[in-house]
Amino acid sequence: MTLKLGLIGHPISHSLSPWIHAKFIDLAGLNGEYKLYEGNPNQLPDVLTQLKQNKIDGFNVTIPYKQVVLDYLDELDSDAEILGAVNTVVNQHGKWKGYSTDGEGYVRSIIESFPSLLNKDTSVLILGAGGAARGIYRALVQKRLKRVDIANRTLDKAKELLPLGKDFTPSEVLTFHTAEKNLSQYDLIVQTTSVGMKPKVQEQIIQLDNIRKDTVVSDIVYQPIMTKILQDAKVHGARIHHGHAMLLYQGQLAFEKWTGKKLDVSHLVDELEDKLRGE
Ligand code: NAP
Repeated sequence: MTLKLGLIGHPISHSLSPWIHAKFIDLAGLNGEYKLYEGNPNQLPDVLTQLKQNKIDGFNVTIPYKQVVLDYLDELDSDAEILGAVNTVVNQHGKWKGYSTDGEGYVRSIIESFPSLLNKDTSVLILGAGGAARGIYRALVQKRLKRVDIANRTLDKAKELLPLGKDFTPSEVLTFHTAEKNLSQYDLIVQTTSVGMKPKVQEQIIQLDNIRKDTVVSDIVYQPIMTKILQDAKVHGARIHHGHAMLLYQGQLAFEKWTGKKLDVSHLVDELEDKLRGE
């Protein structure tokens, strides 16, 4: 039997997901395929009909469909419902169930690199309050940490995240200026804005002059691998965590939802880095 997987979104021709899931299919010892189903925003119903006809086992969802796809699903995982976004769909005996694996994938990637970082004494600062930040915030607060604060250009958007965390971990919304001044309070700083992404690789969202050396600076942007803020974190003697690790682990979790198999993918972090560097 061939496992049928894929990705819907636009544009997706440069996606790394086919590479990642081909590796996972091999590791799991399965026969399978992971195809790209590209379509512009008006073509979503047609793309989904094609997937239904193909009896696809599961698929990933990316921009611009992460919210609008909810209308076409039979069931939602509780976190996906709370987040209002889906990046993974599982075909369960003909019914499509939606999940969001970004947040938990991020947390898995951090724990893999820094196993004891997240505990009741950990203070986290998230920079940004977009779609990715939402999932990451939700997954981090559920770890019942000391605090998870959010700094964003548009403060109202950051305030909209707070209800996702109120039962789990204390949080405050900050300006970037206040965050820069208070940086020494944080054990983990998670950069989730698109600032620093190719082609604007010289941009950096905040300055790190007040950072502690034992702090981990994590950037979810993975193109380039070594963003400006990560370079700066190194100059300040801090520890760093790369965005492609999150990409890999959110895929690991999606594959687990599709197949029930939790693969050891740690050796693929370096392979993915080489792939991104074009080696
Ligand atoms: P999004 O929903 O559009 O959110 C963008 C965020 O960036 C918002 O907080 C926005 O602030 C901020 N921002 C954008 N331009 C800015 C600027 N010039 N100055 C200050 N803030 C700015 O995007 P997203 O889906 O969350 O994705 C964000 C980044 O994460 C992208 O680079 C994406 O490639 C990356 N990502 C990586 C992974 C992974 O697996 N590693 C997964 C998902 C996303 P405002 O609210 O003020 O507009």
